[in-house]
Amino acid sequence: KTHIVWLRADLRLHDNPALYAACQDPQARVIALYIATPGQWQQHDVSGRQLEFIRDGLKLLSEELSALRIPLLYASADSFTDSVSCLTTLCIKHQATQLFYNYQYELNEQRRDRLAEQQLSASGIICEGFHDGTLLPPGSVLTGKGTMYNVYTPFSKALLKVLNTELPECYPSPAVREYPADLAGDEIPCLSPDSQQYDRKLFPPGHRAALQRLRSFSQDKIRDYHRLRDFPEQPATSGLSPYLTTGQISARQCLRRIVHDHPRALSGGDEGSWLNEIFWREFYRHLLVAYPQLCRHQPFTDWTRNIRWQQNDVQFTAWQQGSTGFPIVDAAMRQLQETGWMHNRLRMIVASFLVKDLLIDWRQGERYFMSQLLDGDLAANNGGWQWAASTGTDAAPYFRIFNPRLQGERFDPQGDFIRRWLPELAGIPGKAIHDPHEWAKKNRVTLAYPLPIVDHKQARQTTLQAFETARKGG
Ligand code: FAD
Repeated sequence: KTHIVWLRADLRLHDNPALYAACQDPQARVIALYIATPGQWQQHDVSGRQLEFIRDGLKLLSEELSALRIPLLYASADSFTDSVSCLTTLCIKHQATQLFYNYQYELNEQRRDRLAEQQLSASGIICEGFHDGTLLPPGSVLTGKGTMYNVYTPFSKALLKVLNTELPECYPSPAVREYPADLAGDEIPCLSPDSQQYDRKLFPPGHRAALQRLRSFSQDKIRDYHRLRDFPEQPATSGLSPYLTTGQISARQCLRRIVHDHPRALSGGDEGSWLNEIFWREFYRHLLVAYPQLCRHQPFTDWTRNIRWQQNDVQFTAWQQGSTGFPIVDAAMRQLQETGWMHNRLRMIVASFLVKDLLIDWRQGERYFMSQLLDGDLAANNGGWQWAASTGTDAAPYFRIFNPRLQGERFDPQGDFIRRWLPELAGIPGKAIHDPHEWAKKNRVTLAYPLPIVDHKQARQTTLQAFETARKGG
């Protein structure tokens, strides 16, 4: 018997349902397999840095699997369809009897898996898929009418009710194989043509580093999370998103660790506010399965299709490069460009700025984020963008528009975050940094910093008008 484990967004030994199941039969030879799909990744705008992070995670995993006498094979195909042919060929070559994999819930990924099941079944290979990537299987948290919740709060309450009854299982790491496959693992080559680097000190790769980060977050930081989470200069959040996205840690492991360390986390304890974020992640993933149009660049709220977005390449480039003349927006965009990560509050601010101040289509921002983010994830990114653009599930009305300057004053009061990322403003003291040109005028200084590219008040009016017209039918 030969069992092949097809790894995708589940690069870990612990709590990996497919790997665990493949190792249940002590007689079976177990082989792990990873198939790169550069063409598909390009189509999905996966960032070079995320691919580099995946590669590093794979290299570490390969060593660990090899210590368990499980070789990790590597192959490359272009598209998902090609990856299925490649998978079939390899399964036949290695005389696989069974394929194990964890589901992925995005539309193209689901199609790929159906195709793989068809082709392998035709060759007499049994396919077994497992739920992973969420706390509970999508489609299992439903309203009384049996439909998916359209709003977060009732979804999270229903989810909490289930979790308070029973926590989802975490699977242990498999043991050393008695019957090793007589194969050596492959080298893991570079996965991306434009090898964009990421900061390995900030995000050390591998599932062990992820578990370590979770442990220390749970012990040291989670208590203050609810108080400090909105201030980008504070290192108050977990920084686990790249690991969760690439499956170097599971949401179930996060939940279990927090509940273990803080037994009141699911019943009103302050630590619950962090779990709430894990629930947002869960919500957007369940939503994607219930509404597959979200994977096809469609808005959740139908009438917002009528919005006439502005095509303005100059302003879009200024936003990308962090030269809009709005300090908090520019500092955030530079943080993204340099590290591939951005604080959640800042993601909301810059997304709101692109959509509500520049009236640029949220899909342009969504795409750019994917191409830069280390944690780029279709469900969370799409959810975040549609939230900011008021085209999504959010209950907040479209006329709630962030004022970028006030957001800066509120969440970076002394301007420390801005000063860190915009060296050209480093000489401006304290709060004055939020209106740098006013300060420069008073102090008769010339700044090497652009003037604001829009007038916020005016932009707000234009946007309200555009949304109002769209709501009336365009
Ligand atoms: P923590 O505050 O420690 O949160 C813990 C975990 O909860 C995160 O790692 C993440 O998995 C999840 N989470 C937190 N906030 C959210 C949220 N609002 N929606 C969904 N999940 C959440 N997150 C991504 O993982 N990938 C993305 O591509 C992504 N794009 C976004 C785009 C926009 C416009 C916005 C507003 C948010 C986006 N988010 C995305 C959500 C959020 O900003 C990040 O998950 C968070 O900043 C990651 O930092 P952290 O791990 O320190 O978070």
